[in-house]
Formats: sequence, structure tokens, C-alpha cells
Amino acid sequence: MTSPHTHAHDHPHDHSHAHGTHDTAGTSTRKVTRTVRGMPASDGDGVKMLRVLGQPQLQNLDPFLMLDAFGSDSASDYIGGFPDHPHRGFETVTYMLAGRMQHKDNQGNSGDLGPGSVQWMTAGRGLIHSEMPLQESGRMAGFQLWVNLPAKDKMCAPRYQDIPADQVPVVKGDNGSIVNVLAGTYEGATGPINGVATQPSYLDVSLPAGKDFEFAVPEDHTVFAYVFEGEVVFGDDETMVKQSHLVVLSGGTLVKAHTHDEAGRFILLAGKPFKEPIVQHGPFVMNTVEEIRQAMMDYQAGKF
Ligand code: MN
Repeated sequence: MTSPHTHAHDHPHDHSHAHGTHDTAGTSTRKVTRTVRGMPASDGDGVKMLRVLGQPQLQNLDPFLMLDAFGSDSASDYIGGFPDHPHRGFETVTYMLAGRMQHKDNQGNSGDLGPGSVQWMTAGRGLIHSEMPLQESGRMAGFQLWVNLPAKDKMCAPRYQDIPADQVPVVKGDNGSIVNVLAGTYEGATGPINGVATQPSYLDVSLPAGKDFEFAVPEDHTVFAYVFEGEVVFGDDETMVKQSHLVVLSGGTLVKAHTHDEAGRFILLAGKPFKEPIVQHGPFVMNTVEEIRQAMMDYQAGKF
């Protein structure tokens, strides 16, 4: 899908900021208020990844609870996969860049995830599932994001949105930018994910060297970006962000990014915060300690 009125235009190397952070239309550009480097970690049965969110430097970013970035050409880094484990009280979102995984739960649901596909799983009151590689060699890369549910929805029935790559709109800008729209609306293209409490935007943005990107976001949404290739500059104050770093983008209605001499690629997430208490114990994320105890009892009693 190509938009005739893209904002992703050519970007010369003289960055003019005559309007400061507020332009005449009353929009204001989000500023980088936090930079966090992904931390090497291992989860499941020895799967190596970078834990970007949900680590000591940044526990969570309401409504986002965790972000893992995985990417390896070596089967030993991913072959163990994530055998059976439970979830309750939130949503897990898997976006594949390369390789194939199979997700299977104890309620008869199963889905194969290939390159460019996304699975948005609303765990709700709970399920037990496995996430296992469907390959024994070659590259495996992607992201798993955990998104919170509001208190009123934590015990909802589980729901799956399994989206193959060909249902994810790709917006190609005149400047060579490529934006995959997983959720939300960019340049008139709306992503396939729907009915999510956080009203999320989830974009995968590739910019050639020396190009611009803009995206309007609701003022009350939490917004962050994670650069996973090259380097990208965010905001009006020229904050250069290198590969494997997350930036929190605060206070405004417009996300602005551009590249300098190198190309760059990042995911951009926006979502409505719940401002509710978060009590997390491994794969259970509830509002109170008592609800966590109940989740553990229900799991041990085989009620998932
Ligand atoms: Mn899981």
C-alpha cells in the first residue's frame, strides 16, 4: 500500500528547527526522556535475547510490561524454545522478522508464525502455551512484547489474533521509507490488530540514510521506540539513538525521527496507560498480591 500524501519526505542534511518544538498547527514533538540499552538475557529453555523492557533499568512503561528482542543465526541460541508455561492478566505480542515459530496452547489453539507475521494473544484469565521453533537452522529474529490489560479485562476469555505477513499493510514512502503497520493507522493504512484496550499503534519503520519520518500520536499515550538496525535520530533536539537501544518519547502529539549517514530501522509503540497498580510475578500480571496468589493456586489446581 502506498500513500499519495506521505509525510516521510526526503531529508536534506541541514536540520532546520526554526519552529522549535511547537509549530503553528499546535502540534508538539515528543522528546527523548529516557534511553535504555537492551540487556543480554536468557529465557524459556535457554533462548538468548536482549531484554529491552522489564529489566532493572526500566521495569515497565505503563501499559507496556516487557520487550524482548531476539535475533540469531545460530540454532543453539533459540532451539530450546519456550516449552509449556502459563500466562494470566495481560497480552503477549509476537512479531517475527525472520524464521518460523509454532505457538500452541492447552485449549486447542495453534498457530504457525513466519517472517512478517504477528500474533496478538490476549491471555486474559489464563492459558498454558508453548512457543517453539519450526526450524533447526537458519536465522530466527523478532520481538515479544507484553502489554497490560485493565483490571476489568484481566479475567476475560483468551483471544488470539494470528495475522499472516500478507495481511500487514506496508506503506512505501516516496523517500524510500518502508513502514509495516501492525496496529494503528499510518498514512491511511490501518493495521490488522483490533479490539485492544490500550488502542495501540505498532509500526516497524525502515529509513534509508538521510530521510525523515513523522507519526501523529495521542497526547495521553505512552510512546517508545526501539532501534534494532543502524541508528536513528529522534525529536527536535537531535538525540542520536544507536542499535539495541530503547527511547521513551514523552510529551507531545508528533513523533519525529530521521536518519543521518546510516540507514536505520526501529519499532514504534504507542498505547494508552491504565494508571492502575501492577503486581507482576513471572508470567502473571495482576493488580494485587492476592490476585497473584489466586493465579498461582488456580494454575496449581489445573484451572488454566
Ligand atoms: Mn508465552
